[in-house]
Amino acid sequence: MLHDDFSYILSLLGEEDKVAWQKAMSPPIYQTGNFSYSSFAEFRDAIREERKNSLYTRGLNPTVRLLEQKLAALQGTEDALCFGSGSAAIASAVVAFCRKGDHVICMNFAYSWTQKLLKNLLSRYGVEADFVNGTNTPEVVNAFRSDTRMLILESPNSFLFELQDVMVLCREAKSRGVMVLCDNSYAGPMNRFPVEAGADLIAHSATKYISGHSDTVAGVLCGSKALLDVVFADPYMTLGAALSPFNAWLLLRGLRTLEIRVERTGKSALTIAGWLETRPEVERVYHPWLESHPQHNLALQQMDRPMGMFSVVLRNKSNNYIERFCNALRIFQMAVSWGGYESLVFPSALFDPNPFPDGLIRVSIGLENPELLKEDLATALRLAESQA
Ligand SMILES: *Cc1c(COP(=O)(O)O)cnc(C)c1O
Repeated sequence: MLHDDFSYILSLLGEEDKVAWQKAMSPPIYQTGNFSYSSFAEFRDAIREERKNSLYTRGLNPTVRLLEQKLAALQGTEDALCFGSGSAAIASAVVAFCRKGDHVICMNFAYSWTQKLLKNLLSRYGVEADFVNGTNTPEVVNAFRSDTRMLILESPNSFLFELQDVMVLCREAKSRGVMVLCDNSYAGPMNRFPVEAGADLIAHSATKYISGHSDTVAGVLCGSKALLDVVFADPYMTLGAALSPFNAWLLLRGLRTLEIRVERTGKSALTIAGWLETRPEVERVYHPWLESHPQHNLALQQMDRPMGMFSVVLRNKSNNYIERFCNALRIFQMAVSWGGYESLVFPSALFDPNPFPDGLIRVSIGLENPELLKEDLATALRLAESQA
């Protein structure tokens, strides 16, 4: 269908104004803090409706707004609101709708700062949170209380790549008047499943696939205009985690290659993950697209393509072995984050305490030649073994 076609979506004009841009092919960066008005009435209207008018870049900036329109079109929601980080997007969504006395349900292995938001920050303001095993749908449903305000999903999460039955849980939440916020960073903005399943707000760390070049930190919330207007009016303007025009431009540029980057890294990752499963040094691999993944069928239902990140558990779980393996890698780099050009490893042993299985290493596959990446892993395993 035409309206699902990626390049069609990206070509949507939105507020793109080729006249004002003097025919520029690539959108200009409106690198400005404020905007000036030539009439009192226009100035008054801008102050009254900051979501609609460029008044001040903490509120609305045309470069950022263009990105929001493209992201909303891509994700298939009415509107989008960009932030200076994915964490700010998630925190703002929760703060906008949860007040003192409200209860939130979150997944056990949700993104670490989502957990900290609830455990360390919002607990101080009277918002209570329960963490549940998202792979167990009845356990999640049992956690609903009469004061539950929000359900936070992340399907799949990173490190363990656990999924939740988003369709069933959205239905259960809806029947109780509970809002659903779904962190869709892993599956990316081209994956509309959470929207189709009925999630109210979809969050992305735009730092990952949307940027795609490890050159900026950013976030986005996608959802209805009505809900995003609430987020905008309060936490967004007050907390001020706005995305800069230049970073918005980097993301607009990232969007142009999103589809081919995701296709390439997903394909490479699946090949490498499948190959790792056959290696004697490897105990198991967690990738939702592998048949060995316990929720493989749910993954096929919820995602339309394999993505570029997975985890591997080595048989030898000693810190020494893992350290030797990581140090022996030549192409893979040791770093947090993911979704960029470079392939990365992140051993979970670096967490203290480590909530994940011993010997687990998260692997983000980049755009390098997958055969060279395989060779790099094989050599590092051999070197780690030789000194075992
Ligand atoms: C990175 C990440 C975030 C946070 O995004 P930032 O852009 O780093 O603030 C949230 N959720 C998931 C799943 C992530 O991977």
